[in-house]
Amino acid sequence: MRSDDPNTGPSWVRGSACWLWDSEGRRYLDLVASYGSLLWGHAHPKLVAAAQQQSAQLAHLTGMATELRRRLCAKLAAMHPMAHGNANHSSPCKAWLVTTGARAVELAMKLALHRKPGRILHFDRGFHGRSIATGAISDTRWLKQLPTVPHGSIPFPGCRRCAWGHLITNCQTADCLKSWVAANEPLLDDVSAVIVEPIPGAKGYLTAADSLFRDLRRLADQRGWWLIADEVQTGLGRTGNLLTCQAQGWIPDLICVGKSLGGGIVPIAAVLGPAASMDELPAGVESETFGGGPLACRVALTVLELLEETPWKVWSEAAGAGVRSVMADAAKALPFPTAIEGMGAFGVLEVQEESSERSRELAWRLTCEARKAGVLFHWSGPNGNRLVALPPLVTPPHAWDWMQERLQKGWHTPRWTTNWPPSRADRRH
Ligand code: PMP
Repeated sequence: MRSDDPNTGPSWVRGSACWLWDSEGRRYLDLVASYGSLLWGHAHPKLVAAAQQQSAQLAHLTGMATELRRRLCAKLAAMHPMAHGNANHSSPCKAWLVTTGARAVELAMKLALHRKPGRILHFDRGFHGRSIATGAISDTRWLKQLPTVPHGSIPFPGCRRCAWGHLITNCQTADCLKSWVAANEPLLDDVSAVIVEPIPGAKGYLTAADSLFRDLRRLADQRGWWLIADEVQTGLGRTGNLLTCQAQGWIPDLICVGKSLGGGIVPIAAVLGPAASMDELPAGVESETFGGGPLACRVALTVLELLEETPWKVWSEAAGAGVRSVMADAAKALPFPTAIEGMGAFGVLEVQEESSERSRELAWRLTCEARKAGVLFHWSGPNGNRLVALPPLVTPPHAWDWMQERLQKGWHTPRWTTNWPPSRADRRH
C-alpha cells in the first residue's frame, strides 16, 4: 500500500534483505518488495558489489556495444522457449534491453504492430504499465479511456470472480474464451496481437487454468496474431519458475521481463522474441538514453548468475510457504471469511465477505493494521479485496516468527469497523 503522492508518508532510509527502516528507526517486514522487483531483497551483497565495481569502471553509455550487453542479451535470448521450441514455435531469438516494464511492453507493441498493424487485445484484469500506450491496455481507469492504440478487452476467467458467472466447480476456461470470441467476432478482423500476464500481478496475483493460455496460443495461431507474455512481474523466479509461461505449457511469440532483472538496484527490462522479426524493426524506432547501459547490464548479469548458482527454486518455495503459513494462521482469528492462495514466492489473503464493498473495506483495514504492526502488504485484488505478500527469496526463517507475532497483535486488537471509504489523507501511510 502506498500513497498516491510519493512525497508524503514515512520516509524510508534503509533496506536489507526483507527489512526496511523508516527515518524514526522503526523496522518493517517488506512484503510489497517494490511490487515484485525485490526478489533478491534490498541491498543483496553480491548485487551491491557488482554495482559498485561497475560504477567505478564504466557506468553509462547510450546505445553502444559492450561485452556486458552482448552477454546479457545472449543469455536472455536463450531463455525464450522458442529458442529450443517445438515444430510450430521454434526460432533463433534475440533480446532487446530497455529501462522499464512499460517500455518493454511498448516495444513489444511496436514489434507486433510493425509485423501486422491492428488492435491489441488484452485482459480486463491485466496491468502493463502507465505510459499512454500501456495504460490503454491496462486496468487503469483514466488511461484506459484515452484513444491511443486500438484495443479490445477480454474477461480474465477465474472462478469466484468469473465474468461468465461460473463457479469453481464448473469453471470452463475454454468456454469463456470461445464465448468471448463468438460475441466479439467483428473486433477480431484487425487484431495484431494479444497480451497476457501468466498471473495478473498488479490486480492481486490471480490465477487461471493453464488451458487458458494454451487455448489463446491456438487462437493466435489460427488467426495470425502474435501472443505476448508480460512476465515483468512473474518472470525470473517469483512464481518458482524462470518463466511462468513455460511452467504453464505455452510458448509466446514475445516475452517481456523487467522488475527482478534489475536486482532492486537498476531499472532494466527486456523483450525476448524471434530474431528475424526483431531485426526487421526499422532503425530509430526504438532507442533509450538509459536502456541497457553497462551498469544495468552488469547488475542484470549478476541476477542471472544468482539464478544459475543458487538453489533459488527451493528458496522461492520456502519463502512462499513461510509467508502463506503465517497469513493462514493469523487469518484464523479474524471474524470474517478469508482464503489463502499462492505458489512460488507469493501469498495472497482474499477477504470473502458476501458484500464486495465490505470485503474491500476489510482488506484495506487489514493492510493498515498490518502496516502499523510493522508488516507491509500490497493492498490489491480486482475489487481491493486481496492482500498480496511478495517476500524476497533471501527472507530468513526467523522473519516468519517476527511476522506472526506482529500480526497476532496487529490483527487481533482492532474492532473491524471503520470509516469508509478512506479519505485521501488516510491513504497516505
Ligand atoms: N507489466 C507488469 C505485469 C507489471 O506488473 C508492471 C508494473 N507493475 C509493468 C508491466 C510496468 O512496469 P514499470 O513500472 O517498470 O514500467
